[in-house]
Amino acid sequence: MNISMTKTTHPGKLPPAGQLGFGSVFTDHMFLMDYTDQEGWHNARIVPFGPISISPAASVLHYGTEVFEGLKAYRRPDGAVQLFRPWENVARLNRSCDRLGLPRIDERDGLQAIRELVKTDADWVPSEPGTSLYIRPFLYSTDPTLALHGVHEATFAIILSPSGSYFSDGLKPVPIMVETEDVRAVRGGTGEAKCGGNYAAANRAGDKAMEKGYSQVLWLDGVQRKYVEEGGGMNVMFKIAGMVVTPMLTGSILPGITRKSCIELLKSWGIPVEERLLSVDELFEAAKNGTLEEAWCVGTAAVVSPIGELAWNDEKYEVNQNRIGALSQRLYDELTGIQWGTRPDPFGWTCVI
Ligand SMILES: *Cc1c(COP(=O)(O)O)cnc(C)c1O
Repeated sequence: MNISMTKTTHPGKLPPAGQLGFGSVFTDHMFLMDYTDQEGWHNARIVPFGPISISPAASVLHYGTEVFEGLKAYRRPDGAVQLFRPWENVARLNRSCDRLGLPRIDERDGLQAIRELVKTDADWVPSEPGTSLYIRPFLYSTDPTLALHGVHEATFAIILSPSGSYFSDGLKPVPIMVETEDVRAVRGGTGEAKCGGNYAAANRAGDKAMEKGYSQVLWLDGVQRKYVEEGGGMNVMFKIAGMVVTPMLTGSILPGITRKSCIELLKSWGIPVEERLLSVDELFEAAKNGTLEEAWCVGTAAVVSPIGELAWNDEKYEVNQNRIGALSQRLYDELTGIQWGTRPDPFGWTCVI
């Protein structure tokens, strides 16, 4: 794929790490590529970061035909920049496209676009501990019509955002709340696609949890409201009686790459992992009788985020006395070590740009 390059005439500057936060500072450039039925994907370009013009009738604005990805570029101790399993993100993007009827991209082109954009703005990859460059690929329909007639025009874009350390003062357990009214997804719906619509459906419950002092919700399955599915934008894992249990991928759960990596790491350490249905009754029974040893969320943004408190209706339990568990900490240390290049990568998960 040939990518044309238009450099900005007003380069910006990477702010100090302490001012970064998440998702509000953007780099100098972005990647764009267009799709039409006649031409396929064409006009791949890196251009200055800035507003995108689309028709007010563009179908994404009315019908939510959008999918996205999230991954990071990390500054290694030797100064080089590396990605973590980016081919997994591109493959998942295409699976999400399939579900929403959006055109797939060529996986090699997707990887090339990520690499070239990160290379262009490599000065924006911060180097302080825990910081990274967040990469947000997204793909949406631009058909300028309100008619429901499938997708015939689309845009694939990538933007980059330097982000601060998620846990600036070390890992900190968070309280989460089981959502009993709203559901995020159902089997056969879009739960396993990474699409904006899932987040729109989750907003109300997320706001409610925040108001009550919880950092996020724990979703139950949408049909029986019985089985634990995932957190708000992160997968979940529990250590129950020495065994790690994580909800199996039933079709309504997002198949996280951090989840997959944690399962592979745990198995390589000889720790048993069960991917299965886990009912909220079983989880709270384990919390009550003391066999729930640890609980944590996993996702690209925070890597591993320990759960310190679980609430469900009027029941409330601390997990591991609201402290970080040894296994959560070990997973965090190993994964972040591989991602930032401070530990060896025996799995071949990383690639230097
Ligand atoms: C992105 C995402 C995750 C985590 O996936 P990773 O690939 O590990 O970042 C989990 N749940 C939802 C709903 C997500 O959108």
